[in-house]
Amino acid sequence: MTQQADTSLFNNIRIILVNTSHPGNIGAAARAMKNMGLSKLTLVDPKEYPSLEAISRSVGAVDILDNVVLAKDLQQAISGCVWVAGTSARLRTIEWPILNPRDCVRKSLEHIEQGDIAIVFGRENSGLTNGEMEKCNALLHIPTNPDFSSLNLAAAVQVVCYEYRLALMESKATKHKGNKCRYDALANSAQLDGMHTHLQDALDYLGFFGTNNPDIVMRRLKGLFNRAGTTQRELSIIRGICSAIQDKKRPR
Ligand code: SAH
Repeated sequence: MTQQADTSLFNNIRIILVNTSHPGNIGAAARAMKNMGLSKLTLVDPKEYPSLEAISRSVGAVDILDNVVLAKDLQQAISGCVWVAGTSARLRTIEWPILNPRDCVRKSLEHIEQGDIAIVFGRENSGLTNGEMEKCNALLHIPTNPDFSSLNLAAAVQVVCYEYRLALMESKATKHKGNKCRYDALANSAQLDGMHTHLQDALDYLGFFGTNNPDIVMRRLKGLFNRAGTTQRELSIIRGICSAIQDKKRPR
């Protein structure tokens, strides 16, 4: 029996490449996506683009390059996304749940009916910054030889897109109904960003940070909200708390 993927859902998956140095990798990533049926490619400030090298390496996937979205930074690239994973060859020590491609794809598909989801790939030489990872709900790590863990960028894109193909074929995206998010929509990246700023302002107003570095405290809190899959209603409550704090007389 031939298994068909529910390809309408592929339109909700964004592949984002950040600051790519080699245009050949952009073309090869586009080819990897098209092989697996994905089409939404976003480039954040690529070093060299458009490029003949990208076209040549894309082989027959020029349509994906023709429809590329260019963004000035990651915040713009993930705007409107309800769930984002950052990929890394390194296992970082901090707040993100570390998922292998299969689990990450499964997790992301829990949210796909609510809006776009994104998988973010880093620079060839230095990966993603901590600031960029802070915008992600999870860290996707492809298990590799620990002594030689870094895949070529387009090869990493290939592995992830293959997992989407498998997952969507197997389940026809099993209509992820019945989770709470159907009734209480997830907050998107811009809404989360606004809430983080509001929370930092309110905590600052309270004098909460004291001698602590606000950036470090906020990084941990962002990790918490990203892990939780914060919904719009939950976010409104937090913003309400922040406003209530700011309405109070400033403590001495
Ligand atoms: N020296 C960089 C490696 C960058 S490789 C670093 O240490 O982070 C370029 C990109 O390919 C990475 O940013 C990531 O998006 C992807 N990548 C490479 N190997 C990977 C792996 N094992 N797991 C997940 N992503 C990987």
